[in-house]
Amino acid sequence: MSFTVHRNECLTVFVEDLTHDGSGVAKVEGYPLFIPGALPGEEVKIQVGKTLKNYGFARLLNVIKASPDRVKPPCHVFSECGGCQMQHLSYEAQLVQKRKTVRDALDRIGKLPDVPVHPVKGMANPWRYRNKSQIPFGERDGEVVSGFYKSRTHDIVDTDVCLIQSHEADDLMTMLKYELHALGIDAYDEKTHLGMLRHLIVRKGHATGELMVILVTRKKKFTQQDEAIKLIKRFAPDVTSIMQNVNTEKTNVIFGDETILLYGKPVIVDSIGNIDFEISARSFYQVNPVQTEVLYRQALDYAQLTGSETVIDAYCGIGTISLFIAQKAKEVYGVEIVPQAIEDAKRNAELNGITNTYFEAGAAEVVIPKWYKDGKRFDVLVVDPPRKGCDEELLKTILEYKPKRVVYVSCNPATLARDLRILEDGGYRTQEVQPVDMFPHSSHVECCAFLELSK
Ligand code: SAH
Repeated sequence: MSFTVHRNECLTVFVEDLTHDGSGVAKVEGYPLFIPGALPGEEVKIQVGKTLKNYGFARLLNVIKASPDRVKPPCHVFSECGGCQMQHLSYEAQLVQKRKTVRDALDRIGKLPDVPVHPVKGMANPWRYRNKSQIPFGERDGEVVSGFYKSRTHDIVDTDVCLIQSHEADDLMTMLKYELHALGIDAYDEKTHLGMLRHLIVRKGHATGELMVILVTRKKKFTQQDEAIKLIKRFAPDVTSIMQNVNTEKTNVIFGDETILLYGKPVIVDSIGNIDFEISARSFYQVNPVQTEVLYRQALDYAQLTGSETVIDAYCGIGTISLFIAQKAKEVYGVEIVPQAIEDAKRNAELNGITNTYFEAGAAEVVIPKWYKDGKRFDVLVVDPPRKGCDEELLKTILEYKPKRVVYVSCNPATLARDLRILEDGGYRTQEVQPVDMFPHSSHVECCAFLELSK
């Protein structure tokens, strides 16, 4: 294809579309340009950046004609920070956009134009929703900086406020930043691998208000720990747990292997519906507790349990879905690849006096075929895989043994659509898809799909 777009050239273009990650798309003689910050329906002035064979990127210079859905981003670091992609779009329009993302994936990848995609279930108050913040610390010109990374970099965008995290996380992040040097602690420098404090992690039990503060340090020896505890307690007097995690490695990974209790209890408790969960420093736990309940209720609804069913919860994490649906099922079998998460799941079952769950650590695609070969049979299969979707072997197993209903919880519409196609070709019918907004102002969308074996 020959195209007339050149690097650094300034152009006025009409924005036609929005990518799933929140970039505007304009076409110049058929050549697509991705423009972060531009919205569909807008006329914008841009400067062309990198150009590749089939598409290019451009910088938004100014908006000539704004979309009626454009809003002023409430966060002052929105344009730099990589945390949110959609704050410049009204919340209602974000939900419309996310529904479209799912619709497009089902049409294009799943070839499922007739499957209904319902309007996205959004939040009444889409701010301050996160129950976990992972905040990097660093040094810049002799001062401590903390906040979140710029998109696709490890440059910290320094801020005192994040509107999607808890007030407690704001307070602790800011307080530590300004008091750190006074305590005789310096922040970690990724380039030189020197300095002490790498990350501050704040977790909060939405239903209980319990708070866990984790300081990730480069060294185990932490001579200022008493002062640090005192300071944290000054700003969060009711803190339930203060932990130190030691990460001595030169790595992007946040946590190291060793976690030490500094103050209080090693876990906090939260509940979803009427189930309590103990959450430890490293446990996986959904970050939007309000919408997690919406999502799980949807999964439960699709599972259509009467109390006599045997159910699989594949990719079960710490057993949140399993325990949530166990009250309505005869038995639930959970499988998860991280052994520690399975330990958490078993402990949480015990904590709630739930006796009809069975958990096994291992790959879903290995453990589930084994269960079937051992003669177990299941009425409903719930899957909640990571972004890459279900393993092919697992899909084959489903098609071989054909449970009546499959409830597919997905954080990636593209792999969901791919897997639905495979299940459709093997005899299932996707009845409907319900998207749920777990991550307002980001471009992510979670879905719950309901499949039945065709008669
Ligand atoms: N259902 C849980 C967790 C979903 S996240 C919840 O709602 O909280 C997806 C989970 O799949 C993660 O816990 C991850 O560790 C696990 N996982 C990844 N690959 C897996 C595999 N092949 N088999 C089983 N579990 C896997």
